[in-house]
Amino acid sequence: MLNNFPTLYPDELFYSAIARYKQANAIDSKLGVERDIYGIERHHKVGKSVYFPQRLGTFIDRLPFYAKLSVDELIWGHTMFPFYTAFMTDVKTNTIFDAIKSGNQMSIENMVGIPMSKIKTPKFLRYCPCCYEEDLNKLGESYWRRLPQVPGVLYCPTHKVLYKNSAVDITTANLDYVCADSDVCNEALTNDENAATYKALDKIYVRNVQWLMQNRISLPPNYISSFYIDRLREMELTSYVGNIKMTEFLEAFQGHYPTNYLELMQSAVSIDERNSWPKLFIRNTAKNRSALRHLLMLQFLKVQLAKLFEIEPVIGKRQRKKSNRVPIYSSEERKEQWLMLLAEHPNANRKELSKINNGLFAWLRIHEREWFDKVTPKNIKTRNLKWNL
Ligand SMILES: [Zn+2]
Repeated sequence: MLNNFPTLYPDELFYSAIARYKQANAIDSKLGVERDIYGIERHHKVGKSVYFPQRLGTFIDRLPFYAKLSVDELIWGHTMFPFYTAFMTDVKTNTIFDAIKSGNQMSIENMVGIPMSKIKTPKFLRYCPCCYEEDLNKLGESYWRRLPQVPGVLYCPTHKVLYKNSAVDITTANLDYVCADSDVCNEALTNDENAATYKALDKIYVRNVQWLMQNRISLPPNYISSFYIDRLREMELTSYVGNIKMTEFLEAFQGHYPTNYLELMQSAVSIDERNSWPKLFIRNTAKNRSALRHLLMLQFLKVQLAKLFEIEPVIGKRQRKKSNRVPIYSSEERKEQWLMLLAEHPNANRKELSKINNGLFAWLRIHEREWFDKVTPKNIKTRNLKWNL
């Protein structure tokens, strides 16, 4: 039983609360604190991530009955989960939620696509020097917030000052639980020459990030790609059918943002480059696309986030007549539809599933047999008991 775990502050990372627990109870080893938190010994694997700790269900079970924290609240309110899953489908979001709750062989960073992403996460834990001072005065201590850790967030929305790197390098393999105190948060405020250029853009970005972190949202499969095409069509940046006028689109996108802002956002755009990221981003439906770039794209398209998540009917690409032979969906899209269907009918066997969507069932069995067999439950054969007796 874990009797004196501290109450989490608003937007505090769970990692930060563990660090405060470790310090308050003068526990000197990492292993000691993990034994308390998860009730485990050394040979058990714990996800030690700062962003996405695992086995949070086990932690919640160890709290006394009067602790009012739920696993749901912990994951949505105190890990980076809501930001990184915001543009994913229900199926994927739920899979990741369960992995954080119950533990998983794979790191959650891998599941949300961080190592493969062009958008690198900050190397150090970040903080606002003014929030830090205020915390000391009000609370007697400070803590690590989630917002400064989001890639692309530059300024504290309360104090309008640049976030600073602390001395806590979260890429170190053997990272300890470190509190936000004067040993590691000692960067002075600096004059910010670029403020005028970036502040307005950053303000919108931060507001959108906060919105994503406060709303429990997810998108239907394939929805956002069609949504993007519809908005681009309204801006006359696609043909009637929905083919993107690529050069015009890239020029408009580049013109919308100052070049050095895009560089800061790890998203510089070159019009000549064959594989310019907005080009791949708009076209590719299967790949994991970073939330940061979704937000840049939506800001360019002047879309309010709430509007996007109202999930109104979308058109996307229109089919040309006589093009019936071209497959409408890619393999990845079909797979995603199938996973949705499986999630909606968790108890159905193959026969029943084939009745629900025979076209999709048949297509996947022909074209993606190995994958299909892996994810689809087998028909349960009922044995004739007489033979066994
Ligand atoms: Zn601040």
